Order: sequence, then C-alpha cells, then structure tokens
Amino acid sequence: MVYDVIIIGAGPAGLAAALDAEYLKLKTLILEAGKAGGALIQSYPWKGVDSYLGFKDMKGKEVADRVVSHAKSMGAEIHEMETVLEVKRGKTFRVKTDKNEYEARAVIFATGIRGVPRKLSVEGESLDGIVHSVSDPKKFKGKKVLVVGGGDFAADCALGLDGAGARVWMAHRKDKLRATDDNREKIAKSGIKMLWNHEVEKFSGGGKLESATLFNNKTDEKMSLNLDAAVICIGSIPAADCLQKLGIKIEKVCVEVDKEGMTSIPGIFAAGDIVTDIKRIPQALATGEKAVYSAYKYLKNPYWK
Ligand SMILES: Cc1cc2nc3c(=O)[nH]c(=O)nc-3n(C[C@H](O)[C@H](O)[C@H](O)COP(=O)(O)OP(=O)(O)OC[C@H]3O[C@@H](n4cnc5c(N)ncnc54)[C@H](O)[C@@H]3O)c2cc1C
Repeated sequence: MVYDVIIIGAGPAGLAAALDAEYLKLKTLILEAGKAGGALIQSYPWKGVDSYLGFKDMKGKEVADRVVSHAKSMGAEIHEMETVLEVKRGKTFRVKTDKNEYEARAVIFATGIRGVPRKLSVEGESLDGIVHSVSDPKKFKGKKVLVVGGGDFAADCALGLDGAGARVWMAHRKDKLRATDDNREKIAKSGIKMLWNHEVEKFSGGGKLESATLFNNKTDEKMSLNLDAAVICIGSIPAADCLQKLGIKIEKVCVEVDKEGMTSIPGIFAAGDIVTDIKRIPQALATGEKAVYSAYKYLKNPYWK
C-alpha cells in the first residue's frame, strides 16, 4: 500500500496535520517514537498549559488526551512506539522504522526539537537519580532535588517540583534566567533556592546519586549539596539524522522550508518546533495544518491551488 502522506511525530504539529489530512481524504499514516501527544505528554504532563486559547487551567496530559482522541476520532492511523530511522527518496518515499518499512508519496516531518537531552559531561552523570525530565513531580515530594539549567524547561521542572513539595535548588551558569517573565516571577515567589553563576563539577554516590559538587564560575568557590535527585535541563540535540541524510539543510535547530512548509526536497514538508521561531503549541498547530494543505496541493494539484 502506498500512503498519500506519512507524518513523522504525533505532537501538536503532527496531530494537526493528521486531522486535516483526514478532512482532505488523504490516505495517511502517523509514526510516533513514543506516546502520541508529543512534548505535552512526554515532557510536561503535570504542568498547566499556558497561552493556548480555550485550554485554560488544563494540564499537559489533559490537553494531549484531548488532541489525540480528536485526531483518532477522525480516523487517523497512529502507530505509537515506532521510531523512524530513515527516509529514502525515489519515485515515492520509503520510510524505514525500527519495526517496518512504508511507502508514501509525501512526508511531513513533525519531530519536534527535544531529541536527545544534552549532557553536562561531568563525573557521575550516569548515577541513578539523575534524569532529564520530570514525568511526575509528586514522586519527588520531600526529596532534595537539584535542577540544572536556566531556560523555561528548567524553570517549569523546578516549579513543578517545588509545587509538589520537593526541596529544590536551581543551578544556572549565568546570573539571569533565559525564561519568560512569568516563570521568573513564579520562581522569585517560590521556595526554589537559586544558585546563580553555579556549574556542576561532579556528582557522587555509590550507584545512586548522593551529592553534587558545584563551583561558582565568578569566584571559584565550591559547595556541596546532599541530594536525592538531579534534573539536567540544558537543552537537547535534535534528532535530525533522517533529515540530514536526505540532504535537507538545518540551521541551528530549524529546518529550512518555503512559505508552503516544503523543504528543499519536493514532497517533503516540515512543521512544528522544527520550523518555527516561537516554539509554542499554537505555532505547531498552524504549521502542521499548513504542511498538510501544501502536501495536498503537491499531490492533487487542485484547480484552486
Ligand atoms: C517543559 C515544556 C513546557 C511547555 N509549555 C508550553 C505551554 O505552556 N504552552 C505552549 O504553547 N507551549 C509549551 N511548550 C512548547 C510546546 O510543547 C511545543 O511547542 C509543541 O509541543 C511542539 O509541537 P511539535 O509537534 O512540533 O513537537 P513535539 O510536541 O515535540 O512532538 C514531536 C513528536 O515527534 C516524535 N518523534 C521525534 N523523532 C521521531 C522519529 N524519528 N520517529 C517517530 N517519531 C518521532 C516525538 O516522540 C514527539 O512525540 C512547552 C514545552 C516544554 C518542553
């Protein structure tokens, strides 16, 4: 069977594309490496979703459940826990996963930017208790946790942990967060102890994390913290392999697309965080929709094009 479109990634961008693909009667398959819902379910199921019109006071998981079930109710075929390893270009596109191989006439990459979490590359980083995201802050209630990083992801994790009753330190190598004003204000009012200009020198423990040694990069002063857990939130290396193998240009973490959402390869489109400068749900939805309409025009050449 040859699909009209294969969508890679079932986050907000991929699901928005899937919804309209069904509406446009395109034979579509969505391949998702993890659970459908993308960052909402994989990175912040517990966090309130901000600035998404009409979804006030809803948590990431609730929004994910809602958008996934909407896409499924329209008939979207989603294969979860199936990672795309390679896309080969020929008369059609052959999409190879860790389980199967599929054929499609167009492909939409909606793979997000989270990729593989960046490491600090310090001693002891592989100890038990050191993680790169927080799936359930409640599990950390009463625990001593160090969050490393200074962006919104780090801020969201620290605030989630603080709200769940953990004792939280946040170490940032600069003297100012790279987070929104809203998150900065929330942190200032929270119980989080900020360690400005601090970097981790090493983690210690016998198999499980017990402590971290940090240093102040302005004064060289060292300090030690007894810990139950550490969350490293210093960004990620996007899983751009498939795109790069195809010869598609990636600037920093962004894929270059034209105003139709098409990459330099005809028939390959991209949407969501991998194309937008503002990496938020509304932008992901809009670019997902754009990509699938463009794929439709590419495949069907309608008179209204
Ligand atoms: C902690 C945090 C809090 C946030 N809070 C908000 C907020 O309150 N409001 C807001 O508007 N935005 C928020 N965002 C941003 C928002 O979640 C993203 O902009 C949005 O999820 C991007 O959607 P996407 O579909 O492009 O990517 P993602 O949601 O990242 O989805 C990409 C999907 O592709 C899959 N994938 C990747 N590679 C492959 C592969 N090779 N094969 C198959 N599948 C693959 C991934 O598993 C993932 O499910 C937040 C982000 C984070 C990390």
